[in-house]
Amino acid sequence: MKIAFLGLGHMGLPMARNLQAAGHDVIGFDVMPAAREAAVAVGVPLAESGTDAATDADVVITMFPAGKHVIEAYEGGLLAAARPGTLFIESSTIAVDEAQAAHAMAIAAGHRNIDAPVSGGVVGAENATLAFMVGASDDDFAAALPLLEAMGKRIVHCGGPGLGQAAKVCNNMILAVSQIVVGEAFVLGERLGLSHDALYDVAANASGQCWALTTNCPVPGPVPTSPANRDYQPGFAGALMAKDLGLALQAIDQTSTDARMGRLAQEIYAAFAAGSGGGRDFSGIITDIRDGQ
Ligand code: NAD
Repeated sequence: MKIAFLGLGHMGLPMARNLQAAGHDVIGFDVMPAAREAAVAVGVPLAESGTDAATDADVVITMFPAGKHVIEAYEGGLLAAARPGTLFIESSTIAVDEAQAAHAMAIAAGHRNIDAPVSGGVVGAENATLAFMVGASDDDFAAALPLLEAMGKRIVHCGGPGLGQAAKVCNNMILAVSQIVVGEAFVLGERLGLSHDALYDVAANASGQCWALTTNCPVPGPVPTSPANRDYQPGFAGALMAKDLGLALQAIDQTSTDARMGRLAQEIYAAFAAGSGGGRDFSGIITDIRDGQ
């Protein structure tokens, strides 16, 4: 397969390398010179531009910061440059309606398109253990599956176009709310004289059990690999959680959903990211809770 990989940032570059390792002919591009230099340094060949890369590709994968970059690139010549029938795999985290708009644009230009956002972070991208949440027709899902399997471990077909992004925002809303309340529980426990280990031992084996507690435990000690043990170095940075909750809020408003916890989580993480939390792991919200911010 000839694959154009556009957006060679924290996630995109290791994903492109895993496709190369699986034997695909990958040609990359990034608008940032530093990203292009990093790609050349690890042996990912580059095109002169995104449209050049797409010209004779079978598949075009985009891994951009946000939806506006995807729409701009699609409108700005990417769709026009590709051969009819090219499969566009959009893996950035973008709004559900943006994914559906990108899909409609690709179809109108005679192409195929799926949304395939990921979770698993940079470590998952490097180790090819990402989870992909896919919105696609059955045929397009089947066509993309071998490529996604070269970059990830768990590939879930969530439904038609846009529903991969829908799954991603819903999952991250659960994660955000649970990370906040796990932090609140530890701070409340501290004030009641309860040790971290005692609360952990109880909740991790009872109905309070969740990923935010047993993998991303926000206090140092009970889970030695959690970011709390390294001064909240990410992990999953507060800025990315704030971004994803912004997309969840957009979806909540568009569907008039009574999601009060999701709304509150968006407010809390927007403030966290605007303060000291943008570059810290999102479990660091516990320090804001402790400080009463
Ligand atoms: P990043 O900013 O490191 O990389 C994005 C790259 O896209 C940048 O290098 C940028 O220059 C490039 N780019 C932007 N417009 C372009 C264009 N028109 N043509 C070519 N390149 C272009 O971001 P990242 O951390 O790699 O994240 C990428 C996406 O994955 C985001 O949507 C993010 O929300 C999502 N995501 C990130 C993580 C994570 O842990 N970093 C985890 C899950 C999902």
